[in-house]
Amino acid sequence: MKRIKCVGILTSGGDSPGMNAAIRAVTRTAIYNGLRVKGIMRGYKGLIDDEIVDFKTGNVSNIVKQGGTILKTARSREFETKEGRRKAWDNMQKHKIDALVVIGGDGSLTGARIFAAEYDIPVVGLPGTIDNDLYGTDTTIGYDSALNTIVWAVDRLRDTASSHERLFFVEVMGRNAGFLALNGAIATGAEAAIIPEIATEVDQLTELIENGFRKDKNSSIVLVAESETTGGAMGMAERVKKEYPQFDSRVTILGHIQRGGSPTASDRILASRMGQQAVEALLDGQRNIMIGVDDDQLVHVPFSQAIRDDKPIDRGLLQTVKILSI
Ligand code: ATP
Repeated sequence: MKRIKCVGILTSGGDSPGMNAAIRAVTRTAIYNGLRVKGIMRGYKGLIDDEIVDFKTGNVSNIVKQGGTILKTARSREFETKEGRRKAWDNMQKHKIDALVVIGGDGSLTGARIFAAEYDIPVVGLPGTIDNDLYGTDTTIGYDSALNTIVWAVDRLRDTASSHERLFFVEVMGRNAGFLALNGAIATGAEAAIIPEIATEVDQLTELIENGFRKDKNSSIVLVAESETTGGAMGMAERVKKEYPQFDSRVTILGHIQRGGSPTASDRILASRMGQQAVEALLDGQRNIMIGVDDDQLVHVPFSQAIRDDKPIDRGLLQTVKILSI
């Protein structure tokens, strides 16, 4: 096996708070171990377009507390083609990068897996996404920060909702995963969470209004995961207008505000530990794995497992929301 001398780092897909802490940890652990580090700008796009810079310890000073990613991020259709990945490989050779750390969501890790297989490159992934939808890890870098942003926003909505006796649908991110909606609902004392995982099994709106919903409450907040399956917060409000016109409903879509802001302490610590582990795993000869966390222990999850699209959600938490909102 070829000895690794130079590690490239990139962030790809949607940004998430804590990515910078991960970049810092990868950079410093690599330098500590005598490796050179290359920062690849704008994800796979920068690898293809040769936007690659030398990284020293100073490049990552004072970034542990910053949201976003200093490496910028992008989505690259070109990397999904063989020709695109060929250009990326040529640039890796040009810069003598012999291993990669990819920080991103399931799309980014899918790309990493394909690239690693095609060119026999050691690649380690870090789960960088607010959605928490990667399999094999209890949590992802950015999830806790996004959850805290949701709590901050919903607490404010509660003040206004209770002054007007309204039903508020708050749409949160998560793509096809309900983690943010469900745990956000518990943390804010919301009346319900509408999540994609059970959307095809249960009519969650009917259940909420006809079974659990106490009409004498002076406000109700329902967190809705953005998703085609749930129809999102707008879809819910339209249904209420038609089917339950006695309710005055309002919609708030939190949108990209959930991605921004300084990472929480938990995310900074998780990203720092995972970044260190990524480099140590590469030096240990590991490849094609994502670093995950299981019961507070760092674990190595093969890419093939991490990007399965069925990370299970704890359905018992729906019952928690229901019981606690009576
Ligand atoms: P988020 O969870 O925040 O959306 P993500 O990593 O899932 O992040 P995607 O847009 O799905 O975001 O993927 C990011 C990039 O990964 C794509 O723009 C593309 O360059 C690369 N990628 C995704 N899927 C593939 C694939 N099948 N083959 C090669 N590259 C891919």
